[in-house]
Amino acid sequence: MTQGGPDDSARRAALGEEPPARLIGAPASPGVVVGRVVMLDRRKVQVPRRHVEDSEVEAEVARLRGALDAARTQLNGIRATLPVDAQDHALILDAHLLMLDDALLVDEAEAAIRTEKVNAEWGLRRSVEHIKALFEKADDDYFRERRSDVDFVGERVLRQLMGHSQEVPKARDGEREPTILVAHELSPADTASLRAKGFAGFVTDVGSATSHTAILARALELPAVVGAQGATKFLANGDRIVVDGLRGVVVLRPNAEQIIAAEERRRRYALFVRSLDAHRDQPSSMQCGTPVALRANIELPTEALIAREQGADGVGLYRTEFLYVDRRLPPSEDEQCEVYRAVVTAMGGRPVTLRTFDIGGDKFSTAFRLPKEMNPALGLRAIRLALREREVFRAQLRAMLRAADAGPVRVMIPMIATVAELRAARAELEAARAELQARGIRAPDVPLGIMVETPSAVFIADLLAKESAFFSIGTNDLVQYSLAIDRGNEHVAYLARPLDPAILRAIHTTAQAARTAGIPCALCGAMAADLLSAPLLIGLGVGELSVDPAAVPAVKAALSRVSLREAREVAARALNLATADEVESLVRETFAPKMSDLLAAGD
Ligand code: PEP
Ligand code: MG
Repeated sequence: MTQGGPDDSARRAALGEEPPARLIGAPASPGVVVGRVVMLDRRKVQVPRRHVEDSEVEAEVARLRGALDAARTQLNGIRATLPVDAQDHALILDAHLLMLDDALLVDEAEAAIRTEKVNAEWGLRRSVEHIKALFEKADDDYFRERRSDVDFVGERVLRQLMGHSQEVPKARDGEREPTILVAHELSPADTASLRAKGFAGFVTDVGSATSHTAILARALELPAVVGAQGATKFLANGDRIVVDGLRGVVVLRPNAEQIIAAEERRRRYALFVRSLDAHRDQPSSMQCGTPVALRANIELPTEALIAREQGADGVGLYRTEFLYVDRRLPPSEDEQCEVYRAVVTAMGGRPVTLRTFDIGGDKFSTAFRLPKEMNPALGLRAIRLALREREVFRAQLRAMLRAADAGPVRVMIPMIATVAELRAARAELEAARAELQARGIRAPDVPLGIMVETPSAVFIADLLAKESAFFSIGTNDLVQYSLAIDRGNEHVAYLARPLDPAILRAIHTTAQAARTAGIPCALCGAMAADLLSAPLLIGLGVGELSVDPAAVPAVKAALSRVSLREAREVAARALNLATADEVESLVRETFAPKMSDLLAAGD
């Protein structure tokens, strides 16, 4: 987006009073829909505060419990109406159901009623605010989303207490045009009910593409734009809008030309999705037939099923650190084992790469007391933290080993910088195995591999390859550490180019070392999902790619358009180029004409 361009003026208008022509948000779920708006009016309920007499306390506690029960019944009802193909996502609603029983929420609200002598609404508010305060300091999308989960649950109970209706309305009856829900915010439970209620898409003022709401929207194939600031301010019931879930754009009151353009994009996207269907069930290979393992990166266990549906050949990266956020204590061995087993089972015999927790740097967790560091990205992160928190690390390794009885598991260590760290990690894995055996639990031998994402790992790739079962190159961090660019710093973001010659050479060196040692070399950074980069990576010697589940079909299609020979020729030329621009021009010139349909789908 260029500065001062039309998108900027839309943003400015959204913040001011003048209705903009369009709103820019996050593309939460792909697809395009033109339709009429139904607003969900859910102004924040004012929470009443009332003193209660001693004699009323028990009645207030009973009222709170009654409201919790009613909220539970309501959520169970929504869960039961989830369409069959979205049942796998019921876990998200289960998490809300669990929250209704959470001691932190319930006990604290009851304690407030009893000790402060306040009404049930106020007691509930106290406990919700407290839980949210625990999350307050986080500056992380995933974390923020968990805070909204607490809000969603709190609001649901509060409305029960106050007798307010809160259900999402039905789509407009007798309407020939599709109906689109516009709301300030939608909970996963709201989203789960949208298809059954006849909605064809939705727009919210707030939210991010990594929220559970967005995940459910994708599972339900509902085009959605979230975080479209100003949506509830500038739209009203009956307005016609275009929801472009591919670009994250909402066009307000489109003219005839814009409607035709949107319909054309909708048609093209539908054709594109259909054309990829053929790829979902096919093994991934280059045009010449050379197989390339194409796996999925997942962060939530529920994504394993999406990965499988999208035709992924296993999980190339499970970011297990997401199990550790938004909690005061690390997950137990049993809890982790259950989650890992569920993922392994969902993948039906395809390999699952479980990465040990990568916490620290920009990845938060309340489960650890992390020191405040000047340079957190260079500090106590990933394997460094694991080797300090040995008990937690070992519990995770035990859970991973136990899950290996459900199918093929690979254990992967993040941010390895030295051989000594790899050896220490192996020693921990062996200790974990011995502990299990002492408990009479059989622990299968699992491959232990590493992420190559520090420059030092590239320099000593030959040494690491001798002691690793596999490599997976993490270009997100490799770019950060090699080019000395803070991943989250927008001032230097222009330098963060995975096609930089320094990165290509690092990938090539790593792949060569893996080849010499006879171990597989994967790549799981975001670069692998770039359609023009994917064949180049194979040409550089990478044998497996791991991408977001939604990207699997398109990357599969892109690889099938290029032969291994051509990929190698382009890679050899790229290795002699001097700038990222030159490399980008080369891949564009050589690969883009073969995949113009794939590249155009998201334009
Ligand atoms: C990477 O660094 O490329 C990677 C895949 O790991 P993460 O993005 O989780 O740091
Ligand atoms: Mg990384």
